[in-house]
Amino acid sequence: MNKKILFPDIHEECGIFGIFGHPEAANLTYLGLYALQHRGQEGAGICSADGTKLYIEKSLGLVAEIFNEKKLKKLPGHIAIGHNRYSTTGSSTIENVQPLMATYSLGSLAIAHNGNLIDIDILKSKLEKDGAIFQSTSDSEIILHLIARAKSGEPIERIANAVRQVSGAFSLLIMTEKELIAIRDPYGIRPLALGKIADAYVVASETCAFDLIGATYIRDINPGEMLIINENGLNSIKIFNSVKRAHCVFEFIYFARPDSYIFDHVCVNTIRKELGRQLAREHQVPADIVIPVPDSGVPAALGYAEESGIPFEFGLIRNHYVGRTFIEPKQSIRHFGVKVKLNPVREALQDKRVVVIDDSIVRGTTSKKIVKMIRELGGAKEVHLRISSPPTIGPCFYGIDTPTRQELIASSHRIEEIRKYTTADSLGYLSIEGLKRIIPNSHLYCMACFNCKYPIEFQSKKINQLELFE
Ligand code: AMP
Repeated sequence: MNKKILFPDIHEECGIFGIFGHPEAANLTYLGLYALQHRGQEGAGICSADGTKLYIEKSLGLVAEIFNEKKLKKLPGHIAIGHNRYSTTGSSTIENVQPLMATYSLGSLAIAHNGNLIDIDILKSKLEKDGAIFQSTSDSEIILHLIARAKSGEPIERIANAVRQVSGAFSLLIMTEKELIAIRDPYGIRPLALGKIADAYVVASETCAFDLIGATYIRDINPGEMLIINENGLNSIKIFNSVKRAHCVFEFIYFARPDSYIFDHVCVNTIRKELGRQLAREHQVPADIVIPVPDSGVPAALGYAEESGIPFEFGLIRNHYVGRTFIEPKQSIRHFGVKVKLNPVREALQDKRVVVIDDSIVRGTTSKKIVKMIRELGGAKEVHLRISSPPTIGPCFYGIDTPTRQELIASSHRIEEIRKYTTADSLGYLSIEGLKRIIPNSHLYCMACFNCKYPIEFQSKKINQLELFE
């Protein structure tokens, strides 16, 4: 089975922001996207509406590079949605930058999507047989086609019907000329929060976007909820039957910003720190200093240091002007990236027994380079690698950019083999039990990347989702 056919563009981890009822809707969306930049650096866009018409500006690049006063002036109106797109191999094209906009028999609409749809090959070929022409390789465009091609119904009814036909992870913002609609898949896989600023409502992937604009976090969009925001205020409709929630635990491990509150008011920083404490309880080692792999390892390293009593130090300094190594589009650049991004602090590391904390090992290439760097350039005597999540063994089908199963080092190697590969003196991962102890209501989380238990079944029963990636 060729995964390219089934998943033309499987990586859709992104940041979304929307606002209704503010005279500076586009400006605030720009700020919201700026705060959500960590969720995607490939491209960004904003679509606004003034009650009669939609306006759109989007491009490849970072939010601050794309937008300026002139561009924002071209986005009038009191409604806006915005999107930050995550970079992926082979799909860095403007067509895939969102919001996606379409004009159909009932007017115009735009969509911003965070998450990954599954079974899209089935839906896409059905739509294509009916004459749909796709502009992008993004799964999100399917929703747009489903709405536009509906035979009848008011826009809201069409949107609900369209969304009921798709499966997978979706936190969605849809706007028409007159309203903003926020939808979350019935599992609540990706986060989506509702806030308020003056008389306007805002919706964002993470609450750090609210903080920047001075909005108050009210609640999450509920799993399976469609929240319509218009002149009459809020109208909440449950569009899916209840299923067991499956929030993405990797948002806590790596993806979300530590200053955000996600999944019903849980602080990301607190969880990361507690994961570090738990890691220390599970994998103590005599050492002189604890250092984080910045930035993602910082809260866990603080927790590890507090729990173990070993002093915290900054042993690696990050160049903040280099993108995340993982998302560089070419392998050659990614390998080079670790050196460009991190440099050891020799004064802190020289002749020390060092515990180095990172949030996860994916392919293992980063850890290997970091261990080497700490030992050879930093002069450390011992390097003990500690990971504040369990071994990553399952690819994500719901929007986290984890590679195929073969590429996940822990899916095919024992911990001792991974230790040898990274050349660390010792290696300890957080246990799944330890992770569950720290995450509140952990039974409501998807941990498929750590236990291969996928909450959503593929429609085609014959297809074993993991086999697709062998
Ligand atoms: P690797 O070299 O493939 O093992 O990458 C591991 C590094 O990537 C760790 O430092 C993680 O913080 C980081 N990481 C883990 N998951 C992701 C992701 N989905 N996107 C970007 N970076 C990630």
